[in-house]
Amino acid sequence: MRVLLAEDDELLGSGLKAGLQQQGFQIDWVRDGVAAERELLTGAYQASVLDLGLPRQDGMACLAAVRRQKITTPVLVLTARDGVPDRIAGLDAGADDYLVKPVDLMELAARLRALVRRAHGVAEPTLDVGALRLDPASRQVWLGDRLVELSLREYEVLHIFMLHAGRVLTRAQIEQHLYQWGTEVSSNTVEVHIYNLRKKLRADVIETLRGVGYMLPQQIRPDARSPAPGAA
Ligand code: CA
Repeated sequence: MRVLLAEDDELLGSGLKAGLQQQGFQIDWVRDGVAAERELLTGAYQASVLDLGLPRQDGMACLAAVRRQKITTPVLVLTARDGVPDRIAGLDAGADDYLVKPVDLMELAARLRALVRRAHGVAEPTLDVGALRLDPASRQVWLGDRLVELSLREYEVLHIFMLHAGRVLTRAQIEQHLYQWGTEVSSNTVEVHIYNLRKKLRADVIETLRGVGYMLPQQIRPDARSPAPGAA
């Protein structure tokens, strides 16, 4: 899950970045409100953590500008003061949630997961597509009642597919969701992850649409234990 962090305090920013990365997020970090607006307008992020007190443009102005452009990326606002007017103004400007500093990292991570879930219309804490189930809190994946061991990257790729079930994703779109800035991506990395996912889950879990991209179908059946009686 790729998240934009906008925070001008070096110490807090580096702490949040490292902590969220440990929780499995990919973090791009900007330090002012103009850069935050520019990056959010790309639509490349699943969520954003936005400090309100930022140089060049405050978080509230950034948020308002982004919402005017119909960018719906979930935004969690960080506020230094426990002031109710601040929070109300943030929510009115289009924030989806807020936290008062000092921030508890585990709480921030949990809230980000919930925001991304809700943004995709999923009310339950787990993500279910047919017989596939993914739990973002524990990062565990099941196919039917089989627990499937995935690497962090494979998990991330599957998560993206499940959030966009039934829709075609190009390799570029998958890469955009997957990697924070400065990550070296070799040209066949996504293909390798998809190959491994098919091996660990099942070949039909991710379909290839030649020349277009890949798709996780909405109907995914559990593993067959034995051939059905009378099956050819
Ligand atoms: Ca600040």
